[in-house]
Amino acid sequence: MSAIDIATTPLGGPTLAQERRLVTSIPGPRSQELLDRKAAAVAAGVGHTAPIEAVAAGGGVVVDADGNSLIDLGSGIAVTTLGNAHPAVVAAVQTQAAQFTHTCFMVSPYESYVAVAEALNRLTPGDFAKKSALFNSGAEAVENAVKIARKHTGRQAVVAFDHGYHGRTNLTMALTAKSMPYKSGFGPFAPEVYRAPLSYPFRDGLSGEDAAAKAISVIEKQIGAENLAAVLIEPIQGEGGFIVPADGFLNAIVDWCRANGVVFIADEIQTGFARTGALFACERFGIVPDLITTAKGIAGGLPLAAVTGRAEIMDSTHSGGLGGTYGGNPIACAAALAAIDAFENEGFVERAQQVESILKGRLTALQEQDPRIGDVRGLGAMVAAEFVDPVTKAPDAALAGAVAKAAIAEGVIVLTCGTYGNVIRFLPPLAIGDDLLHEGLDVVASALANAG
Ligand code: PMP
Repeated sequence: MSAIDIATTPLGGPTLAQERRLVTSIPGPRSQELLDRKAAAVAAGVGHTAPIEAVAAGGGVVVDADGNSLIDLGSGIAVTTLGNAHPAVVAAVQTQAAQFTHTCFMVSPYESYVAVAEALNRLTPGDFAKKSALFNSGAEAVENAVKIARKHTGRQAVVAFDHGYHGRTNLTMALTAKSMPYKSGFGPFAPEVYRAPLSYPFRDGLSGEDAAAKAISVIEKQIGAENLAAVLIEPIQGEGGFIVPADGFLNAIVDWCRANGVVFIADEIQTGFARTGALFACERFGIVPDLITTAKGIAGGLPLAAVTGRAEIMDSTHSGGLGGTYGGNPIACAAALAAIDAFENEGFVERAQQVESILKGRLTALQEQDPRIGDVRGLGAMVAAEFVDPVTKAPDAALAGAVAKAAIAEGVIVLTCGTYGNVIRFLPPLAIGDDLLHEGLDVVASALANAG
């Protein structure tokens, strides 16, 4: 049997045999060979989670060069929400690549870029005129959202939150909270970035209203609304630990921004495109951002990012002030149009809600037997378990790391996250079948049981 047999997943699309299959230890010899070459050729700062050489991926599995088939509970960090190599995305990429690969939209515009902007304007939250601009990466989208907010308001300060993650470029490093590994040694950082306290129900015990009052007090006392261009927040912190703010927190922050002429930017780079059981997480909290940044799931694995928002804010920059050589590359745009069509028409939002109930049901049951799981939280196919000392609630990063490592060795790709490194996050592709998802969770459960 070849490693790339084609089967069909519940949501359609050709993909690999949907099974966990270990034919060598992980890493196997072929993977190890690549990892040795990587160590010699690739900068040490570029790490990796699963020690494999990926050769194919689809549905809910990643296949390595040794013929092992691993259950994918990470989606390449929340990117392959549709399942890897979704057939419509593949076809769109092939067609576009044969037509033209690049003109630079700023030199010779093409239709697919405009169509992606139209789709984003239509689908993102907010019943008002919107415009979009396209970029290559999440960090680039965040940088541009801040540029636009500054130009629009004529103010400079930007507020980001504790546990926030917004990227690794200079401005987004400043916006990101966690020092190691994202910032340590890489300063100086961009000025006029301030940090406010987040609502973190498991650790602060505050209501959403009280947590918002605390954040707003910090903002008013330490910056002043008259100096503040934008408040930037992930509706659910991703890298920071899948922290779901208490009810009312985001709403109060949005209201304060509106009352003070501050641009509210929702960073939905990780939460967007059906990941949280709605097309955008803002919908799950009943908030409407002025600007929204998207990337990751938007184009089925091709590099694309966007800023979308109120037309009058988006239009505040002069011509030539936004852009880039590759931003809105035609192949990425073709992929995005296919992906967006799938998100709208193939039941992915509903599937994310089903995945939420499986993930939360299983993890909550595990938590009842094992007090080292302090908290289970998340929305849709974005759910996490926070590992702690059962008595003190002190973060237990060693346990989270050991469980993740053992799960990977048993053929299940899981990722850790969290400011304290003590969170295992589950971000399965929505094309995964229920059986495979349960099997992946079984493996994580036994890794936890065996971790002493
Ligand atoms: N914002 C959020 C919320 C993210 O999760 C990420 C990526 N993990 C980024 C920004 C940066 O995106 P990219 O890696 O594409 O620059």
